[in-house]
Order: sequence, then C-alpha cells, then structure tokens
Amino acid sequence: MNETLIYLDNNATTAVAPECTAAMTECLQRHYGNPSSKHKAGEAAKEQTLKGRAQVAALLGASPAEIVFTSGGTESIHQAILGALALSPGKRRIVTSLVEHPATLMVLDHLETQGVEIVRLGVDASGQLDLAELDAALTPETALLTLMWANNETGVLFPIEQAAVLTAAKGILFHCDAVQAVGKLPIDLKQIPLDFLSLSGHKLHGPKGIGALFVRKGRKLPPLLFGHQERGRRGSTENVPAIAGLGVAAELAAAQLAADGPRIAALRERLEQGLLGALPEASITGVEAPRVSGTTSLNLGGLEAEIVLDKLDRAGICASAGAACSATGTEPSHVLIAMGLSPEAALSTIRFSLSRYTTQAEIDRVLELLPALVRSALAEAA
Ligand code: PLP
Repeated sequence: MNETLIYLDNNATTAVAPECTAAMTECLQRHYGNPSSKHKAGEAAKEQTLKGRAQVAALLGASPAEIVFTSGGTESIHQAILGALALSPGKRRIVTSLVEHPATLMVLDHLETQGVEIVRLGVDASGQLDLAELDAALTPETALLTLMWANNETGVLFPIEQAAVLTAAKGILFHCDAVQAVGKLPIDLKQIPLDFLSLSGHKLHGPKGIGALFVRKGRKLPPLLFGHQERGRRGSTENVPAIAGLGVAAELAAAQLAADGPRIAALRERLEQGLLGALPEASITGVEAPRVSGTTSLNLGGLEAEIVLDKLDRAGICASAGAACSATGTEPSHVLIAMGLSPEAALSTIRFSLSRYTTQAEIDRVLELLPALVRSALAEAA
C-alpha cells in the first residue's frame, strides 16, 4: 500500500499486523499439511490450528473448545442465528435492534419471509437501547436475542453484560456480534452469560476470510457446513495460515489492549475537539453514549459527505460515509436514521475510524486539511 496514505477507515478493515503476515507466510511455506492428516505434515498444521484456537480463546476468556473457526463475521453470525432457531424448536421469534450490521439484518429479513417473527428494537438519539423495552421484548416465545456490541458506524456500545443477565434469567439464547468490539474492549466471557459471540479477523489486524464463533460449552449448535472439521461444527479443510494469522492478531490485541485503548481514545478526542473547534456547524453523533475508542461519526451539518470524502481521498486520507460494507453511495445509513437523523443529515456524515497504527501526526494532518476542504466544498456548492 502507498505508505503516504492516512488510513482512517479501520472499521471497514484494518491493516494486517506485520507479526501476522510473518506467521502466515511461515505457515504457507512450511505448514501446508492438512490438519486432518495423521502424518507429520498434518500434525504440524494441526499444531498451528491448536495454537491459533488457544490464542483466540485467551482474548475472550473462553476455553479453546468453545472456539469454532469460520470464514468471517458474516458466517459466524449466520451460524449463530440459524443454529439458535434449530436449538429452540417451537420458538419462532428473534429479538434484535434496528442498528445491527447488514450481516445480521439481512439473514433476519430472510427468516421473516419464512414466518419467523423479528422484533427490531429502536434506539434513542444517542444510539442507545432501552433496557426496560428490551426486557419486555424477551417473551417466552423468543428463541434468540442477537445484538451487536460496538456499532460499526458510531462506535456506540450496547449494554451487553446487562442484556446477557436478562436472557440468562429467562433461559433465552443470546448471540453477540462483537466484530467491532473484539480487540478493542477487554472481554471475559467467563463473566458474561451469553451463549454465542462472533468475531472477524480483518477487523483486528488479522487477515480477511477468517473469523470465529464462540459457542458456550454445552450448546450443541448445528453447522452451516457439514463435515468432521471443527468437531463437526464447521466442515471444510481448515484455513491454516489464516487461523495462524488470526491467532497472532488476537495475542497482539490482548497484549496491547491496555495501552492501545487510552492512546486511541486520546487521539479520537484530539480529532473531535479539533474538528468541532474548526467547523461550527459540525457535531458528533453518538457522543452522549459510551463508545468504543476509535470511532467518530462526524456530522457536517448539511454538506454532502461524498464531496468531502472525495477531496479527502485525493489528499491521501481514507475515511468513509456510513458503513463501507453496505454503502450504495446514496442511501442514508439505517443506523443514523434509527438515531433520528434526517436523510440529509445522515448523508452529511463522515466516519473516521482509528487503529493501533494511527499517529498523532496523521490526526493533525486531518485537522489541518479538513476545515479547508469543507470550506472549498461549501464554496463550490454555493
Ligand atoms: N458485524 C459488524 C459489526 C461489522 O462491522 C462487520 C463488517 O463490517 C461484520 C459483522 C461482517 O464481518 P465480515 O466482513 O468478517 O463478514
């Protein structure tokens, strides 16, 4: 990649950590065996998957047997949702929120066409759920609660611990889409009684095309892909290099979380205060709620975000409008609309997402450039 780029779109995807690249390269070169083979080459590859599984488990406070490797966040989410329905025969109701990622919303839309009742809870202007409303929605007919932990567009954190206490008390299964939370928040699944949790390698400086699903011990979640691998929970020959890469990414995240979190939060604060100071019409969406450290949803106050993003891109700064994975270019974000923004305000939103590799010099460069770019876009629009 162009080394001069300032990459502030880490919620779309992250740069692969050099440590992961090294582990994956070694795997590709040396550990090419099939982990199911009984010979030495197979055993060496199996060793890599065991190591990766232990590293991912350690990041979550889980045991290695509770980790199923998948192709990414989307597959993990699908397996949890479809599997939970199969685990709860007779229950045909799923509770979720309006601000979930399309990986969740689209499979739920599909299930709705099959007769499953989907309850989509709204959020307030800060992006937060009402716990009393959530509690009331968790009726005895409910098979599953599925909620994201950190929102990919605003960074707003849902009260996952409290939600897990509610579902556990009622005997309702709970899946958490933690794709934007893992590696950014300390997570100890020994302390949180949720059943399933999804994560994705490419959001925590690991490779794309690998993810994991945490399946609480005792939950017999059926597979999406049938086969003997992953103890019958996910067929297909394991992607050994990607598992090794995800394992190293998880280990790095665990080791650096305590230092990275406050540093990234301070950089975001510098970015937000600088932008609000320079752009009187701007505001930050979701700022009143607890947020994950590196995400900023900047509302430009009416100016079309795409115009500014294009100018930023030409200046070597990568950011995004709404969710990169779902952006069609002109549709306002469903997350911002659910928070009460008008379509015009939603289309006037730029998302900056920082990472472990973001530097203060990069933030200062954005602060130097963006106000002038906004002024030139306003002049062009006038
Ligand atoms: N969930 C959230 C909150 C996400 O941000 C994403 C990716 O943007 C996904 C799920 C899907 O993950 P993957 O790209 O690994 O399928």
